[in-house]
Amino acid sequence: MGADDSEINVEEVGRVLIEPLVGRDKTGAFIERNFASVRTLAAVDEGKVKPVRPRLGDYSHLAFLNVITNSFLPISPLFVRNLYRLGKVVGYFCAHQVLPFYLSDLVLPLAKKTNLSLMTLKDKSIQDLLAEGWLEAGGGILSFDRVDNKEGKIVVSIKETASSPIHNVSNPQCYFEAGVISGHLEYLVGGTWDGIETKCIAKGDDRCVIELFRDGGSVIHQMPAVSHKEAEAVLDQYLDIALSGRKYMGRDHVNDYGHMYMTQAINYVLLSQSPPHRVLVKHAGKVVGGKIAQRMNFGSAANALNHLSRLFEDLKVGFLDVNYKPEKINVSVDESLFSYGVEDIGMKLCIYLAGILEGCLNNATGKKWAVEEETCIADGDETCSLSCVTQRV
Ligand SMILES: [Zn+2]
Ligand SMILES: [Zn+2]
Repeated sequence: MGADDSEINVEEVGRVLIEPLVGRDKTGAFIERNFASVRTLAAVDEGKVKPVRPRLGDYSHLAFLNVITNSFLPISPLFVRNLYRLGKVVGYFCAHQVLPFYLSDLVLPLAKKTNLSLMTLKDKSIQDLLAEGWLEAGGGILSFDRVDNKEGKIVVSIKETASSPIHNVSNPQCYFEAGVISGHLEYLVGGTWDGIETKCIAKGDDRCVIELFRDGGSVIHQMPAVSHKEAEAVLDQYLDIALSGRKYMGRDHVNDYGHMYMTQAINYVLLSQSPPHRVLVKHAGKVVGGKIAQRMNFGSAANALNHLSRLFEDLKVGFLDVNYKPEKINVSVDESLFSYGVEDIGMKLCIYLAGILEGCLNNATGKKWAVEEETCIADGDETCSLSCVTQRV
């Protein structure tokens, strides 16, 4: 990260639409080859398959994933459309990775030959399978209200979504979830599907309702940019949960931990869009780091880093090991949520963490810090490490 980064308009970068269809199968196959986390994604029955991360396991707290996804919105409110599209890519990948494994008992001969049809989606056992996956992944309690083959329309309800603890908002919040379901349908049914949320728990409705349309590409233009104020408020609410002891997501039946594959796929897809996206991702991390420090009143770099170490361990984001040297602070990150289990793909993947540290140190010390990824497992290094130096003003 050089001086040039300050010239990048992160709001504009956030507005550039991610294209969910182009290269999706190629990207999915690339992740499948290089990300070990894929291997434990389908293994719902833990214990049979060893986790990729020996100490933290392969699940991280969903408050953190929601902090990540919502941290882009105060920067660029139109990023809601990208959250939707990231959901779409991840929903497609997950269906592709997980469903064949389970469908083999149910309908593999059919699934393999023809792709599942809308008629098959009417099948209760297929619906149950998807619902089970959603429950496991911390998505919520999914049910199919309507599957209309003729009209090419599907309506789903989701209770206990990750937006369950959010309140005082005027817009639906589950853009990512709407994308995930659309991605599932594109894998299961084929063709292009797009969905829009019409009811949302966060708005005070009793459940979230997503309506999905075949060839419904235009619904994306109905997804309103949230206001800066609302985006900040939602991020603050998720952060408060992440920083609290209980980390209660307002749900009683749904798992609050999600598989690391989701975070890794979102992060990789975002970072591989363009070099300015690295700046955007770091900036989003900085916003979060600054907010953490504001809340905690750390007073010193050491205090801030100690606290972040505990927080990241609690949320299962990684283990920090902090080394103080005269000229800089070196922080190694073991079992990083963003990069652990990734082969050498010639890319550093932990820049969001660098952003959090930088924002946090700036705010905690009143000095200007530069935190950079020095090494990363995904770049062929043995460990991930961040270097933190204060900049002369
Ligand atoms: Zn919702
Ligand atoms: Zn790394």
